[in-house]
Amino acid sequence: MISKTRILAPALAVALLGALPALAQAPAAAPAAPAAPAAPAAPLFSTTKVEGTDNVYIFRYQGHQSMFVVTKAGVIATDPIGLRRPQAVTTYIAEIKKVTDQPIKYLIYSHPHFDHIAGGKPFKDAGAKIVAHKDAAAQLKRFPLADIPAPDETIGNKKVITLGGTSLELLYIGANHSDGALVMRLPKEKVIFAVDFAPIQGLPFRNMPDTRNPADWEASLKRLAALEWDRLIPGHPGPGGRLGTKKDVTDLVGYFQDLTAAVKTAAGEGKCNDTAMREVKLPKYENWGGYATSLPMNIERMCYTHNGY
Ligand SMILES: [Zn+2]
Repeated sequence: MISKTRILAPALAVALLGALPALAQAPAAAPAAPAAPAAPAAPLFSTTKVEGTDNVYIFRYQGHQSMFVVTKAGVIATDPIGLRRPQAVTTYIAEIKKVTDQPIKYLIYSHPHFDHIAGGKPFKDAGAKIVAHKDAAAQLKRFPLADIPAPDETIGNKKVITLGGTSLELLYIGANHSDGALVMRLPKEKVIFAVDFAPIQGLPFRNMPDTRNPADWEASLKRLAALEWDRLIPGHPGPGGRLGTKKDVTDLVGYFQDLTAAVKTAAGEGKCNDTAMREVKLPKYENWGGYATSLPMNIERMCYTHNGY
């Protein structure tokens, strides 16, 4: 997402100035204003327009991120990412206001997990209508959090929001990492926002808490791969901040298949749970995020299906 040319430009300027000592002093101020994203440590938050789009943005605060879409008739925002940090929400809204003076018309919840959807009250107070999948809304009733306003509208398998000439599809493609997760697809831009269930080069988190059935998750990923899109905005930044591709999704399907097969073999040898957790390795994925910590717990979860629970 960060243009390399913007990072290289100041370095090149410094190199050229060094090669021309006669000019080195006068224009010294020239390289003193490098592009802000070139800083080595990630700043607390960032707002980035998705390359090649007119109006699609990613707001990141620490390790979480959301998509927002700006139209001439209002803004469609997603996940407030404000759990135990209301400043993330006020920053998010301030960042939107830097881009547009249009009102925020919608706030879409990606799925019912607190770290992504807590903190939406300032959006609601600003007039946004909160939309979520019906299964996410049901889960929020079972596990309520004062800092999560209930959805104003719940949907089933599909809803299309059309605002100011932009269409955004909200699609339900089955239970996966949680119940009630929505894929948000911009058909014109061929961009999707998919949170937590399609990590880029990353393992499913720990023992897949809140996953009804890992096989459902795999099936949902196949449906995701079958949709028409080119780039995937994840809910946590991908490696180097890059967006996801279809290959990332099919690679993750491959991970589920390899994990399932390896644990099936181990279960047949009577190794579930503890021996399998120690012995089963999937070196093909050792460079993926969470490999060391989550693989044993992914194995344990897969062992459960061979134990009848
Ligand atoms: Zn989640």
